Amino acid sequence: EGQRGQRELKGNIRVFCRVRPLVGGGPSPHILLPADDNKALVLARSEETYNFSFNRVFGPSASQQEVFEEITQLVQSALDGYNVCCFAYSQTGSGKTFTMEGGNSDAAVGVIPRAVQQVFLAAHTLGAQGWEFSFTASFVEVYNESLRDLLYAGKGGKRPEHEIRKSAAGEISVTNLTYQKVDNEGQVQNLIAVANQNRSTAQTTLNDRSSRSHSVFQLDIQGENAGRDVRCKSTLCLVDLAGSERVLKSQAQGERFKEMTAINGSLSNLGLVITALANKESHIPYRNSKLTYLLQSCLGGNSKTLMLVNIAPEPDSFGESLNSLRFASKVK
Ligand code: ADP
Ligand code: MG
Repeated sequence: EGQRGQRELKGNIRVFCRVRPLVGGGPSPHILLPADDNKALVLARSEETYNFSFNRVFGPSASQQEVFEEITQLVQSALDGYNVCCFAYSQTGSGKTFTMEGGNSDAAVGVIPRAVQQVFLAAHTLGAQGWEFSFTASFVEVYNESLRDLLYAGKGGKRPEHEIRKSAAGEISVTNLTYQKVDNEGQVQNLIAVANQNRSTAQTTLNDRSSRSHSVFQLDIQGENAGRDVRCKSTLCLVDLAGSERVLKSQAQGERFKEMTAINGSLSNLGLVITALANKESHIPYRNSKLTYLLQSCLGGNSKTLMLVNIAPEPDSFGESLNSLRFASKVK
């Protein structure tokens, strides 16, 4: 009974773990996935053994399709009027971007394009029942506690500055940000291409910047059923977080030190916000980082949150894997 109560309390937060294949193939020397249980993961080496359980654990052979199948219900919730947030959390190199955006083949298409496809298909189906939807997409990068519009289409010149604003009604918006009305999947695909273009431009000035910034894709959904006089409004938010790896303070200098501080601060604050929401605390520290402030309206309230924890199976990732799994266990 007690456990069911607990589950209800934390019912809106789910945690999935995904172990990517070992580079070069073969089983991981320190990760054990009990074959009869798709919810458990054991991390072990010599004297140390750590047991974890999550809502779902995907092994290295899980396909993008299999992972997405477990997320479709959550995506459907966004059309039912719930705010939905899905985060990929982990150290760099463990599969966040592969999971969220995907790889180069049709089978490797990731969560974001699959979710977008599902949303438009579902909206079409609901159309037959009298629902009319309108969609607005935005794509932001949070780097060093400042925001950058990934849909910015201007050439050269000075990019606009962005600030997060909260309206009297509690709605969050970003100044000077591109909010693009979209009617179909193809239009969103074009926007994703613009975002990738923007990212690769930034990349030339700062190597591997995308691993050190949070990438936030948001689809605002407004639905109306005039015949039944009902409306709904929600946001589907899909986030590829900055790499969670610990950088030795002594090794990080200048720009790297600033990045490290910003990333550690925003990731730990994200954990605090999610735990505070799960525990129904009266104060939720949204404002302590740009990421949580930006996502304020999609977290909490009647929203549904999914944390995807990506794990690299190589022995030299043991410590980082343990950190990620512990973080995920805390928000669960
Ligand atoms: P991150 O975004 O966390 O830094 P990536 O998504 O870039 O990590 O993944 C690192 C590398 O591993 C990439 O080459 C990616 O294609 C590959 N990879 C990640 N997950 C998988 C997977 N499930 N199956 C096959 N390759 C994967
Ligand atoms: Mg990445």
